Amino acid sequence: MNFETILYKKEDGIATVTMNRPNKRNAQNGRMIEEMDIAFVDAERDKTVKVVILAAAGSTFSSGHDLNLYPVEEGALYRAPDVEGKWEYERDYFFDKIFRTWNMKKPVIAQVQGHCVAAGFMVANMCDLIVAADNALFGDPVVRMGAASTEVFCHPWVVPARIAKEMLITGNTIDAERAYQFGMVNKVVPLEKLEEETLALAQHIAKMPAFTVSMIKRSVNRTLDRMGFTDSINSHFETHVLSHWTNEAKTLLDDSRKQSSNIKEFISNRDGKF
Ligand code: ZN
Repeated sequence: MNFETILYKKEDGIATVTMNRPNKRNAQNGRMIEEMDIAFVDAERDKTVKVVILAAAGSTFSSGHDLNLYPVEEGALYRAPDVEGKWEYERDYFFDKIFRTWNMKKPVIAQVQGHCVAAGFMVANMCDLIVAADNALFGDPVVRMGAASTEVFCHPWVVPARIAKEMLITGNTIDAERAYQFGMVNKVVPLEKLEEETLALAQHIAKMPAFTVSMIKRSVNRTLDRMGFTDSINSHFETHVLSHWTNEAKTLLDDSRKQSSNIKEFISNRDGKF
């Protein structure tokens, strides 16, 4: 398959999926989510692949979902402006496809530089390990759009609950060094060494016995499930979708539309006052 929005390569047991919309700060549109899904399914099936790297082209890991995902001209941010349609779309594209990484049998390493926010944060944290460049910034600013976090609520599982509340309520980012202090990332490396260091980690893991590695991943994930991981993440999805329909969210969106003629303006209006 010819990919438009990602790069996909397999070499020496390592599959690398690279989000490739650098001019859009790797904003994830429907196409990108579909293509990433196809690549992850292939990497899972291909017996020669031992480890997967999720990387990003350009200066930014990912700025989140592309707000142009749904055509604004139709009079609604969402292509299917009813609860049922939105529920199904988000469940498929923003939840099930994203959660696949977590459930894959093979280990996945996120290679993160620059902004890793909103759905970018969500995607990186579905990976088993994270290598961050020293310029990486993590956060989830969707409170500024009146949304209760992103769809996959990994936040209180990957940072301490108090930090999760700080990030989510203020919409501010935390830098790589701080993320390292509470164990959200495995390693912080100079930006220019990011690719090399991530590859070295992947090569190390590729030498380990593959079935044992997959059993270890399974057991750690099952331990988290005993603590309620999948259950709580599923229940937040409903809270998130509900939050799209509040008066607060609608007012914020309407105000932004009145003040902005394009997405760039929308974002600068949204974030400017913070
Ligand atoms: Zn949503």
